[in-house]
Amino acid sequence: MEQLKLKLICPECRAELRKESDELRCGACESAYKIVDGIPAFCGTDEFYEGKFDVSYDDSQSFFTRPAFFPLFIRKALFRFLILNQIGSKRKKFILDKARGNELTLDIGCGGGRKWLRNYGQVVGIDVSLSSLKNARQIYNAVAQSTLEKLPFPDDYFDVVTGIDILGHIENDDKDAVLTELKRVLKPGGRLVAIVEADSDSVLFRWAKKHKELYYEKFIELDGHFGLEPPAEVIKRLNRLGYKISYKKSVYGIVLPTWEYKKAFAGGYSKKSLFIRALTTFNRSADRMTCRGSRMLVHMMLGFMDSLTMRITGFDNGHILFVEAVKER
Ligand SMILES: [Zn+2]
Repeated sequence: MEQLKLKLICPECRAELRKESDELRCGACESAYKIVDGIPAFCGTDEFYEGKFDVSYDDSQSFFTRPAFFPLFIRKALFRFLILNQIGSKRKKFILDKARGNELTLDIGCGGGRKWLRNYGQVVGIDVSLSSLKNARQIYNAVAQSTLEKLPFPDDYFDVVTGIDILGHIENDDKDAVLTELKRVLKPGGRLVAIVEADSDSVLFRWAKKHKELYYEKFIELDGHFGLEPPAEVIKRLNRLGYKISYKKSVYGIVLPTWEYKKAFAGGYSKKSLFIRALTTFNRSADRMTCRGSRMLVHMMLGFMDSLTMRITGFDNGHILFVEAVKER
């Protein structure tokens, strides 16, 4: 991976940093930041996140690269049709749809990194977990250890900021500060491309919330989703902070990706309702089908059912929000 010469500033006072052996030192406020194994560290490690999302997940890029019988354009068309229409691929489809290539991109909370973000151009990843960043730097052009409230980058620096499953991890009281900081580092006209975990109002989630302890365990505590808001609230907040919404869509109201369904509803919830138990069994078998063709077909059908039910039930029913918001010039 081609390394990028990053312009880093002091996140405390925004003055320039100078490199001194194994640290970066601020000329103005004398703050010093260690370089750990080649990674500039602007914050300490976080016990909850350290090692939690290390693995870079990338399951379908091989579809393009594997030596195959068909020419590339046919493989790409097949990929779009057969892979991206599946229930579990909607995040990836959104991210790929918004890529223009050749833009300097910041991926916040990047974990172990995502190969498909390379479609955006040069990518810089930040995270609080050092072990995640060690993986991410194999994929991205540069990485830094940083929280989101104070970023070590100059004003008007990035063309795009991607935040994949990040905003739901930020407590509501801190969100304005984070989104304002993201806007600072975006160029005028730059875009925030975000996948946001949201508080769904669908029949399924309203039922799930009736079991308060289970809901807290499965939907809040498990991944650290301490800032879930209804999709419309997220949009309102972005508008208030001066972002212009250029795309919004919410998904996964009743029909969830099979792995997400199992993660949340197998176990405790399955004991509460026969219907949920049946759905869990269905989701489990959909993943276990040995015939690849039928597995694809079932996952595509579920994808279609999600689109249909979302169209009927409305925006606030989705528990995942796709949003593209532009920093106005
Ligand atoms: Zn400083």
